[in-house]
Amino acid sequence: MSKLEKFRELGLSEETISAIAKKGFEEPSQIQALTIPKLLENTIDIIGQAQTGTGKTAAFGLPIVERIIPGKGFVQALILVPTRELAIQVAEELSSFRGNKDISILPVYGGQSIDTQLRRLKKGVEIVVGTPGRVIDHIKRRTLDLSQIGYFILDEADEMLNMGFLEDIEIIFATTPKEKRTLLFSATMPTRIQKLASNYMPKYELLKVKAKLTADLTDQIYFEVHEASKLEALCRIIDIESEFYALVFCRTRNKADDVARKLSDRGYEAAALHGDITQHQREKILNSFKRKRINILVATDVAARGIDIDDLTHVINFSIPQNPEAYVHRIGRTGRAGRQGTAITFITPSEFRKLMRIQQQTKVEIRKEKLPKVKNVISKKRERVIAEITNILENGNFEDNLPISYELLAKYNADNVIAALMTHAYKDEFSITKYASIDEPSARSKRHPNENYALEENGKTRLFIALGKSDGMDPRKLIDFIQKNAKVDARNIRGLKVFDNFSFANVPFEDAEIIIQTFRNKGRNNKPLVTKAKEKSDSPDRSDRRSDRPKHRR
Ligand code: AMP
Repeated sequence: MSKLEKFRELGLSEETISAIAKKGFEEPSQIQALTIPKLLENTIDIIGQAQTGTGKTAAFGLPIVERIIPGKGFVQALILVPTRELAIQVAEELSSFRGNKDISILPVYGGQSIDTQLRRLKKGVEIVVGTPGRVIDHIKRRTLDLSQIGYFILDEADEMLNMGFLEDIEIIFATTPKEKRTLLFSATMPTRIQKLASNYMPKYELLKVKAKLTADLTDQIYFEVHEASKLEALCRIIDIESEFYALVFCRTRNKADDVARKLSDRGYEAAALHGDITQHQREKILNSFKRKRINILVATDVAARGIDIDDLTHVINFSIPQNPEAYVHRIGRTGRAGRQGTAITFITPSEFRKLMRIQQQTKVEIRKEKLPKVKNVISKKRERVIAEITNILENGNFEDNLPISYELLAKYNADNVIAALMTHAYKDEFSITKYASIDEPSARSKRHPNENYALEENGKTRLFIALGKSDGMDPRKLIDFIQKNAKVDARNIRGLKVFDNFSFANVPFEDAEIIIQTFRNKGRNNKPLVTKAKEKSDSPDRSDRRSDRPKHRR
C-alpha cells in the first residue's frame, strides 16, 4: 500500500483510495498530482492541458466523486464530451471510483433511446456525462435541470470546438448557476480555446502536462513508400508481427473503405469505420474489434474519436496525419496501460517535410526504418507455424486425427504428406508469390541523387524559379534577389543552377513556403514566379532540350 500513499497525500479519502487500489493504479499521474489537491482544497477554476492517456479523467473524476453528496437525486456535476464513446468511457471510469457511495452516473448521448435516459434522469442522477447535442435536447424537454450543479467540466474541449459544438456549449453554460467550478481539459490550447476559457472563467489556473502515462512505451517509426505500395507494405508489417491488433488511419472515407476491402480480400480480419457508417453498424464493428473478432480497424480521424482500447499493438498512419495534433492524437491510442506499442507512419517522398514538421512540433523522435523483406516475413511466418505445431505435438490433442495420418503415410512419404497438409491448411501462405515487390523510394534516390526526395530528406525543398541567364541572373544575383524580397537568410539558399530561362535552388522547407508566398503572383500574367520543382525537373539533358520555359509555369 505504500505506493498508494501518494494518492492519500493528495487528500483523497480511504474509500476512494480503496477504489483506486482495485483499479490497480499505483501512483498519481502528473495531471492527477497537480489537479486533485486543487480541486479538493480551494475553489479556483482550472484549465488542464493534457491529452488522452495522461489520466485526466481520474484527475477531475476522483475529486468530483469525492465531493458529490451521495443520494441527493439532483445533478451536481455535468461533464461535456465530444463523442458518445467518450461519454460511456468517462461514465464508466467515474463509476469505478465511487466505491459503495450512492452516486448515480449517467451517460447521455445521441443514438441511444431517449426514453431510457429519461427514466434514469427521473429517478435521480448526481453526475451526467453527455455530448452537447443530447444534453441540449434534455434541457429543452426540461428533463435535465442544471440549476444546482457545482461542477461544469469540458473534456477534450479542442475536439468539441473542432466538431462545431461551440454554440451548444454556450447554450448549456447559460443554464448553469453562477456559483460553480468550471474545469476545462484540452490537449491543445489554440486561441479559440483560450477565448472560450476567458468567457467562462474570469480567473483560472492553467495546469500543463506533457508526459503521458505511457508515452515512452510507444515506439515511433516511419517508412518511406510510394502511395501505390502502401497496402503491400502494410501486409508485410502485419505478417511479420506475431501479434497485430491495430487502428489503421486513412485520410478519407473512400480510402478507409478501399484499404479495409483489400485487406479482407487478402484474408485479413479487417473492417472500415468512417462517417458513412450507421450508428448501428458502428457499434457492431466496434464490438467485434473489442472482442478481437476483427483485429484491424481502418478508420478516419473523425470516426476514430473516442475509441478507447488499451491493448492495441500498433497504430498505422496509412495516410500521414494532417497536423502534429492529429499525429499525437492518433498515436496516443497505442502504448497504453503499461503495454508496449508501435506507431508506424507511411510517408510518400513528397511528404517528408510534413513528417519533419510533426517531429519538430511534437518533439518526438520518429525513426526511419526499412520495410521487412519478403524472405524475412516468410521465415517469421514459418517459425510461428512450426512453434504452433510443436506446441500441439507436445501438448497432445491431435489423437483424433491419427487415422488420417496412418492412411496417408501408408501410401506417401512423410515429407510430402506434411507439405501437402500445409498447402491444405495455408494455401500459398509461405510462398514468395503471395507478395508483390515494393519499389522503395529510398533505393531509387540512391540511383538518382538529384531527385527531389533525396534533397527533401535533409528537410530541403527544391524550388523552380522562372528567371534565368536571359533575365540577367547568375547564382549570386539570384540569391540576392530572393533574399531581398522574401527576407530569408541568404546562407540557406543552396544548390543553385541557373539555366537560360529558369533556375533551381534548394532551401529549407520553412523558407520555401515564405519564398513561394512572396513570389506567388510576381511571374508573367500574375502567375507564380517561384514554385516547387517537380521530380527530375533539373536534369540537364531534359531542360537543355527545351528552348522555351518548362511546363512548371502553368
Ligand atoms: P485518460 O487519460 O483519462 O483517458 O486515462 C488513460 C488510462 O489510464 C485509463 O485506462 C485510466 O484508467 C488509466 N489511468 C489513469 N490514471 C492512472 C494512474 N494513476 N495509474 C495507472 N493508470 C491510470
